[in-house]
Amino acid sequence: MGLKTKNGTIEYPAFFPDATHACIKGISSADIVASGTTGLVVNTYHAIVDKTVDTIEKCGGLHKFMGVKMPIITDSGGFQAMSLVRRTPGNGKITRDGIKFKMDGSRQSITLTPENCIQTQEKLGADIMMCLDDCTDPGESQKEQELSVTRTVAWAKRCKDEFQKIKKDKPLLLAIVQGGNSKELRKKCAEELIKIGFDGYAYGGWPVDASGAFLDEIVAYTAELMPEGMPKYAMGVGKPEDIKKCVKMGYNMFDCVLPTRDARHKRLYVFNDSVEKGYEFVYMRAQKHETDMNPVSNSCTCEVCLGHSRAYLYHLFKQGDSDAGRLATIHNLTFYSKLMAELRQLTLLR
Ligand SMILES: [Zn+2]
Repeated sequence: MGLKTKNGTIEYPAFFPDATHACIKGISSADIVASGTTGLVVNTYHAIVDKTVDTIEKCGGLHKFMGVKMPIITDSGGFQAMSLVRRTPGNGKITRDGIKFKMDGSRQSITLTPENCIQTQEKLGADIMMCLDDCTDPGESQKEQELSVTRTVAWAKRCKDEFQKIKKDKPLLLAIVQGGNSKELRKKCAEELIKIGFDGYAYGGWPVDASGAFLDEIVAYTAELMPEGMPKYAMGVGKPEDIKKCVKMGYNMFDCVLPTRDARHKRLYVFNDSVEKGYEFVYMRAQKHETDMNPVSNSCTCEVCLGHSRAYLYHLFKQGDSDAGRLATIHNLTFYSKLMAELRQLTLLR
């Protein structure tokens, strides 16, 4: 069982690395495919800011442009409302109509509305579109959370109306459940969204509290509110231990910048024999690797582990060679592919 999209079937559970600007820093599309990655997330807000939407459309959409044949999710830009506007009000404004981002210097301000958000995702050629949502931090006031749910539901309705104008090669449209840390608001938001009707649902909002603790209870509760047999997407959840927890809760789709960002910061993921025994980090900045002729991981079959030693990767990072980030990213993405493949096996065994 999986989720059929225009560019392939998604086998659950699936992890989607963030190719935010229609690329993953430092690696080629061929590298992405070779790492076993089965899908990507591209960001609508960044495509607008980068002014690449028309270019990508003229080039036949994201798949042709990037040269990949795999399901692509386009995120709506709602998350940027939180990370850029809510945390720094001088950066813009959230109103009933949408999110206005104020650009600095010579760049013009942009406004994301539910309508132009869907139109942009269509131009990009998404397999899975996300509704524009008003994303909050769990620490914000009850009043703000209520307002966010009201906006998120109203915007989802407008997204659906705009989505229904697409007649050809229809993608899937997922709605995002907000409500912060309030069960009452999460329930209200999910019920209202389910009434409108979407192809799947996502957990929205920051899933971690101010102390850095994962919000197990509200994340699990929100999964229960979503219909069975549909995509249940835990947005931004990416630590292997959090993915494992969320799979048990019923979530089947994930995305995160962690494996690629960590790779560039010399942090590599290595299994302790198997997924169930966990993993450890190998830091390529540690001097103990200077003459370590072992591969990054004995059990990994990526280009890096088959062809290079820790000593050589350490050397490349020390030299500031661009291949260092590339090799580390290929390894971490291969680790995530293996993690998800083993979780798929465990899910089948349950
Ligand atoms: Zn490897």
